Amino acid sequence: MKYDTIIIGAGLSGLAAGIRLAYYEKSVCIVERHNRIGGLNSFYRLRGREHDVGLHAVTNWAPLGVRSAPINRLMRQLRLRPEDFELAPQIESAIVFPECTLRFGNDFSLLEAEVAEHFPAEIDRFRNLVREIDQFDAFRLGPRPSSAREVLAERLKDPLLVEMLLCPIFFYGSPTPDDIDFLDFVILFRSIFREGFGRPRAGIRPILNRLTRQFRDHGGELKLNCGVQRIIHDGHRVNGVILDDGRLLEADNVLSSAGLVETLDLCQAPPEIRQQHPAGELSFIELICCLDIEPARLGIDRTIVFFNTSERIPYHCPEGPAELGCGVICCPNNFHYDQPLDDGRVRITVLANPEYWLDLPVDRYASEKETWRPRIVDAACRIVPDFRDHIVDTDLFTPRTIHRYTGHVNGAVYGAPRKIRDGRTYLEGLYLCGTDQGYLGIVGSMLSGITVANLYLLK
Ligand SMILES: Cc1cc2nc3c(=O)[nH]c(=O)nc-3n(C[C@H](O)[C@H](O)[C@H](O)COP(=O)(O)OP(=O)(O)OC[C@H]3O[C@@H](n4cnc5c(N)ncnc54)[C@H](O)[C@@H]3O)c2cc1C
Repeated sequence: MKYDTIIIGAGLSGLAAGIRLAYYEKSVCIVERHNRIGGLNSFYRLRGREHDVGLHAVTNWAPLGVRSAPINRLMRQLRLRPEDFELAPQIESAIVFPECTLRFGNDFSLLEAEVAEHFPAEIDRFRNLVREIDQFDAFRLGPRPSSAREVLAERLKDPLLVEMLLCPIFFYGSPTPDDIDFLDFVILFRSIFREGFGRPRAGIRPILNRLTRQFRDHGGELKLNCGVQRIIHDGHRVNGVILDDGRLLEADNVLSSAGLVETLDLCQAPPEIRQQHPAGELSFIELICCLDIEPARLGIDRTIVFFNTSERIPYHCPEGPAELGCGVICCPNNFHYDQPLDDGRVRITVLANPEYWLDLPVDRYASEKETWRPRIVDAACRIVPDFRDHIVDTDLFTPRTIHRYTGHVNGAVYGAPRKIRDGRTYLEGLYLCGTDQGYLGIVGSMLSGITVANLYLLK
């Protein structure tokens, strides 16, 4: 059988693209190397506890009735109802620097009031910047500024405010050391600050299950434990894929969510093309701490804290194994759920050096994880109230884990710095979706899958 489209990867972008194609009765097959769906946003069970891999929060939060909100438009494209994801809004988040804390939530006026209070000389300039962001046409082609850091330094005068606004945006989506493309800054500013955070009480699982059901109900085929070893083509056009077990699957189109560098490898692309696209090198360690108490009872009552302890955020690949001077502390308990979560959780994310973690011999890898576990907890306890006496279990994953389970080179969560915005590649019929097409995060990757499917595969 020859498919209309084979999709590589059952992450959020691949599933979203698959639903669009299946809905319009295209013959579509998603092939996923791992034994479960979700990719960077999957889930697992460890010592009797359920864990999400990547979910801190779903960005772009909007009340159910707001039809024009991006997340509700996305749901309509997937023929789902906004309530299908069961998102509860965040309580409140903060950007914490030694000199200042800025609180923000799902109502933008909180951030505006905080800037007015802590940076009174900047508030007019901040409002002008927000107006510029609101009016920015993210889909307009042609020249536009590339460095968000440069734009912010021009529009605002206080370097501390610049650094504080960049902090959550770097951690939730920048593939570029110490900066971010201005277009991505605009998209993330809207989705984090303008709209905000929500989370399903049961984590990512119900979202993934709902997407899979929708895909299969419309006739889509999903093959797990089914890796693609090679994309086959005649130098101009794709013809299908060869699987890890040597089987050939033929298709008119291949849509890859594996990442740009990874997809070029699967095609055995010529060196002159590969050289144009260096791999990303920003990756993270994530430490999940399970507590015997609700974190709020210890005074950890914010949803997400983005912290930085130096003058300038060291958002680049650390020289040592990890960078503890900045990061994210997320508390999945702190959303407005109907019922509280069963146990307390604190998740801590810090930058990590991929090469270091990927090159460690197996026995040293385990001992290095043990070394870094308490250091990361200590770093978090300098920012939020001390929770060390309440830890009953932990799990830690590194760039090596991300690489192992998703195949992303260097475990680079936000992919390659150079994005392929139109999703096209050097081969006809081969398209990219997901992180390296340029949309980031859970909502972004689903939007990417939908956009590329609509543009090229439903024609
Ligand atoms: C620690 C962490 C925390 C995060 N927190 C958040 C958050 O709070 N909010 C948010 O919005 N986003 C968050 N993200 C980011 C978000 O998870 C990703 O942006 C999004 O899931 C990317 O989806 P994707 O479909 O583009 O790619 P992926 O999820 O990487 O999917 C690609 C899939 O392709 C499969 N694959 C690769 N190669 C092959 C092959 N050769 N054959 C077959 N299959 C293959 C992989 O196994 C994978 O399943 C987080 C990520 C991490 C790692």
